[in-house]
Amino acid sequence: MKQMVIASTNQGKISEIRAAFQGLPVEIHSLAEFGTIPEVEETGKTFAENALLKARYYVEHTGMACLADDSGLEVDALAGAPGVYSARFAGDAASDEKNNQKLLAALYGIPEAQRSARFRCVLAFLDADEAVITADGTCEGRILEAPRGKGGFGYDPLFYMPKLDATLSEISITEKNAVSHRGQALKVMAKKLAEYFAQEEA
Ligand code: IMP
Repeated sequence: MKQMVIASTNQGKISEIRAAFQGLPVEIHSLAEFGTIPEVEETGKTFAENALLKARYYVEHTGMACLADDSGLEVDALAGAPGVYSARFAGDAASDEKNNQKLLAALYGIPEAQRSARFRCVLAFLDADEAVITADGTCEGRILEAPRGKGGFGYDPLFYMPKLDATLSEISITEKNAVSHRGQALKVMAKKLAEYFAQEEA
């Protein structure tokens, strides 16, 4: 059985990954099992660069194959911002509320038709022998003028999906995983990993 560490201690994320990889010949570990490893600085200019630099860092620190992700929000009227800066849009260690306020202020007066946006997620799997597999997922929607709903995290209350007629804060976690950028990227990654593990076996 292959061993893999997820570059996260977030139990929600790890459970989602376990579910997506069910049936693959891989045992999934949390970073929490490796004691305290200092966090790596996300200096990449793209989601892919950040995902890969995290995967590389944790392979070095754990000696195990690693799956890392990077994600964020791209708003068309803001030329793709906040992008890789989504978590720190309103400053280092900014709260979700502060980031959402900053987003609303940046889009003030911009009409509905020009408030298109997407969440993007890039997953990077790095094996100890440096083999790299990446997978990308997106989730299209638009930014509302006021938050709606109580669930989720980050920009979810402002992110409206016309096809669901709801924000990501107004749907269940199961529904969100079925449509989310991370859910899509995980589906692609599960397929690619199945092929990779089968090739390794052969
Ligand atoms: P990370 O890749 O999990 O570190 O996410 C980076 C940032 O992007 C988060 O802090 C959120 O602000 C935003 N983000 C990523 N995924 C989501 C999501 O599913 N909903 C809302 N915000 C998200």
